[in-house]
Amino acid sequence: MSEETMKLKFIGKILITGEMKVVTGMHIGASKETVKIGGIDSPVIRDPMTDFPYIPGSSLKGKLRSLSEKSLEKELFAISHNPDINIHVCTDEHCEICRLFGSSKKDKNEEQKHIPSRLIVRDMHLSNDKELFDIDTGLPYTEWKFENSIDRISSAANPRQIERIPAGAKFKFELVYDAEEETELEEDITRIQMALKLLEQDALGGHGSRGYGKVKFERVTYTGYPREYYVSGDESYILKDRDSVEDIVTAFKGGKND
Ligand SMILES: [Zn+2]
Repeated sequence: MSEETMKLKFIGKILITGEMKVVTGMHIGASKETVKIGGIDSPVIRDPMTDFPYIPGSSLKGKLRSLSEKSLEKELFAISHNPDINIHVCTDEHCEICRLFGSSKKDKNEEQKHIPSRLIVRDMHLSNDKELFDIDTGLPYTEWKFENSIDRISSAANPRQIERIPAGAKFKFELVYDAEEETELEEDITRIQMALKLLEQDALGGHGSRGYGKVKFERVTYTGYPREYYVSGDESYILKDRDSVEDIVTAFKGGKND
């Protein structure tokens, strides 16, 4: 029996950081088990330690993935435990979606194949909570809005109170990209940048078609940590504060900081 070996590939990390501004009220819902606050029908998710509303990294990552799948017109499959949810997954480790966002799927020989995600999306926390503290809506740091749907047959109204993170709220964001293939670096970072752009023209969270969840990404900054930095500890390898994809990719491929 021959022993299969695998060599890990790692050429460094790129951190993409900045601020996400909420332009129109945003609703990212908490699970149904969460205790209702002030009779709100549909509360937002909050950090249990601080009570601040926050945005789970999984919400942002899922949205960036689905927008990227759509832009590449990828083939979608229903996921096994929920046939209502369709996502793109495949077994090609160089697939533009799966290498970035991860994949787990059975191959032709019915063997489960995992493609680890090159992208980590951190939870996003409020960066201007002091400003939001002053707004008086009866709810901490949020507002609520009535939505009314009318039954087309009986004309009965179904009013609901939906809690929203108000326009003007700002969240720090941090995406961590693991660079494995130099040849795919520019394509991956460009895809992330375009996914953020697509999201600005789409919506984050619920009720997007009714105007909720318009966001804007500001002060987007790229910082490169080439493998040499982690091996040597020499901070002069760090590629600090690049403000475009082109700058960070050129610097990353060129090696040491100037
Ligand atoms: Zn794929």
